[in-house]
Amino acid sequence: LFITVEGGEGAGKTTIINLVQEQLATQGYEVIRTREPGGVELAEQIRDLLLHTQGVEMDNRTEALLYAAARREHLIKKIVPALAEGALVLCDRYIDSSLVYQGHARGIGMEEVRAINGFAIETYMPDLTLYFDVEPEIGLERVQKDAVRSWNRLDQETLTFHKRVQEGYKKLLKAEPERIKAIDANRSFAEVFHDTMEEINRMLLS
Ligand code: C5P
Ligand code: MG
Repeated sequence: LFITVEGGEGAGKTTIINLVQEQLATQGYEVIRTREPGGVELAEQIRDLLLHTQGVEMDNRTEALLYAAARREHLIKKIVPALAEGALVLCDRYIDSSLVYQGHARGIGMEEVRAINGFAIETYMPDLTLYFDVEPEIGLERVQKDAVRSWNRLDQETLTFHKRVQEGYKKLLKAEPERIKAIDANRSFAEVFHDTMEEINRMLLS
């Protein structure tokens, strides 16, 4: 089973994924927890290019291609082998992030970005995608308070950009309500975690 977690900045994905991983392990599942961009050596190097390049403009399509390349590497080296062994893969971000950030928010177009990602992922789509929906104002405030978080290129973006990210996710949600489940992430971690486990258990039992 392949589960992905999506959302804008400060949605709390990382924290909830930690809790979910623990919970599923106690339920007896073999869980592989991973993230994008990154997760394997070469993809981590691409991540560094994408998130920590300073003082150089990056063309939007170049950015989209680098994300797709990192995704492919991670998929083939880590996700596919884990799925083949019967593990439950829990991945922080996947194709939907590219559709939303590069396709919608940066304005390349979701279908253009979907095309290059189709090349990268072939038919490997998640069984379930949890979308943590946070109001951009709240998310950005959380990010600013997070002392351990390091600078990344997205920190230069405006509130308008982050609103477009939310808008993009909502479009995807409308188009694929079977796969993508929205969770109100403006609430406390306890509430978000509760709803998250409810969605996952619903899928596991179906
Ligand atoms: O921890 P998080 O997953 O949010 O960090 C990854 C960073 O990469 C975020 O700032 C996110 O907005 C950005 N990103 C992006 N386009 C993607 C995936 C991630 O801009 N396709
Ligand atoms: Mg995170």
